[in-house]
Amino acid sequence: MAERRYWNEAMETIDPNRLWRLEDERLRWQLRWIWERSPLYRQKWEEAGVDPLSIGRGSLHELPFTVKDEIRRSQEKAPPLGEHACVPLTEVVKIHASSGTTGRPTLIGVSAADAAMWNEVLARFFWATGVRPGTRSWVAVSLGWYIAGLGFYDALQAMRATVLPSSNTEAARTFSVLQETGVDYMVSSPSFVNYLANFARERLNLDPKSLGLKSMSLGGEPGAGFPEIRQQIEETWGCKVYDAMGTADFVPVIWSECEAQDGMHFLGQGAVIVEFIDPETGEPVEPKEGMLAEIVYTAIQRECVPLVRFRIGDLVRIEGTGVCSCGRTGTRIRCVGRADDMFIVQGVNVFPSAVADVITSFRPRTTGEFQIHLPATGTRVDPPVPIVVAYGPEAGDLDQLKQELQEAIRMKLIFRADIRLVPHEELAPTGSLKRKVIVRGDA
Ligand SMILES: [Zn+2]
Repeated sequence: MAERRYWNEAMETIDPNRLWRLEDERLRWQLRWIWERSPLYRQKWEEAGVDPLSIGRGSLHELPFTVKDEIRRSQEKAPPLGEHACVPLTEVVKIHASSGTTGRPTLIGVSAADAAMWNEVLARFFWATGVRPGTRSWVAVSLGWYIAGLGFYDALQAMRATVLPSSNTEAARTFSVLQETGVDYMVSSPSFVNYLANFARERLNLDPKSLGLKSMSLGGEPGAGFPEIRQQIEETWGCKVYDAMGTADFVPVIWSECEAQDGMHFLGQGAVIVEFIDPETGEPVEPKEGMLAEIVYTAIQRECVPLVRFRIGDLVRIEGTGVCSCGRTGTRIRCVGRADDMFIVQGVNVFPSAVADVITSFRPRTTGEFQIHLPATGTRVDPPVPIVVAYGPEAGDLDQLKQELQEAIRMKLIFRADIRLVPHEELAPTGSLKRKVIVRGDA
C-alpha cells in the first residue's frame, strides 16, 4: 500500500472554491450559535448595527474585530470563562490558562467537541512533519496550564504515536530516558531546544545529534522560519526543523511547514477562517506572494469560546498561495513577528526576529542570544539602538566583532545599532520556552 501522504487529504488539498463554500456553511452555523449564547457578542453586534444572521463568508468583513482586551474584560465581568463562553461549565472538559502580558491569566475552555477538533487539526500538523503511528514523539513544552502541551499530548496519542512527555523540566532525567527509548521526533520552541542543547553538551557531555532525531517542530516564538536560525538548530541536532504557529485562542498549531519547508501551510480548513488584512487600514487583502499582512481568525467549529474576527496581532509574509509541491493547498506564510514587538527606527519597521537572524549568522562568534533595549513606551526609537549580544566561544577580537555586527545590521536591516558584547553566561537560555529579546525602559 502506498504511504498515506496526508492526515486528511480532503481538507488539506481542498480546492479554494469548495473551501469557501464549506467556510460559508460553518460560519453561518457558528454565528447563530454565538448570537444565541454569548452576551458579549450580542451586545457588540447590536451596537455595531449588524445582523450576524445575515452574514456569510463573503460579508464576514462587515463584522467588527475582536481584540484581546475585550476577552480579558469579558472574563473579569463573568468569571471564569467570560461572556463569550457559549456552553455551561458542566460541558467544559478542560480549562487552560495563557499567561497574559498584564499579569492576569486568560482562561480558555474546551468542550469535548472542541477537543476532538483540536486533535484533528493537530494531527494534520504532526503528519505533515513526519509523525506516524509509532513515531517516538518527544513533547518538550510545558504540560501544565499552557495550552499547547496537553493538546499535543492528546493529539499524538489519538494518532497512535508514542508520546515521550518530558515537559520542560528535569532535563538530565529526560536525556537519560531518551537514551533508553530512542526518539524520532520532537516538538518544542527555539529557545528551549537551545537550552537543551547547551545542557546536553555542558552538563552531560552529550552531543544532541547522538539522540538520532529525524525531525522537530518548533513554535511559540518566531525563529525556526529564519534561515540562519533554522540552519544552526538543524546542525546542532542533526535533523530537519519545521516551523509551526498557532494561537491559544483557536488551536495550538494552525500553521506548519511540510517537507518542502517553504513557508507554513494553513492547516485549519473547516475549523478556522483566516483573513489577511492590511495592518494599517484593517481592510481585508487578497494574499499575494511576498505581501506583508496581519492575520485575523474566526472560529467556525468551536462550541466553548468561539471568537469572531479576532485580531491577534501576528504579522506574516505570504510565501505562496497555489498548490505546494506536497499537494497541499493551504496558503503558506512566514511569521514576521507580533505587531506589538515591532519598533520603528527613522521610518524603518524592525522586528526582533530579523535582528535574531543577523546575529545568528555570526555563529560561532556569537551564541545567537541578544537583547534589544527600547524606551519604556512607544514604538519609535532614535538610533543608535542599544543591543546586547552574547559572544560565542570563537568570538575572536571583540572590537572587530562589534564593528562587523553593527555593519551587518546597517546593511541588512537599515538601522544603526550600538552593540555591547557580553559573555554568554549573561544571556544564556534559562530553560523558559520563550526568550525575552526586548527590554524596555532601562537602556
Ligand atoms: Zn507543502
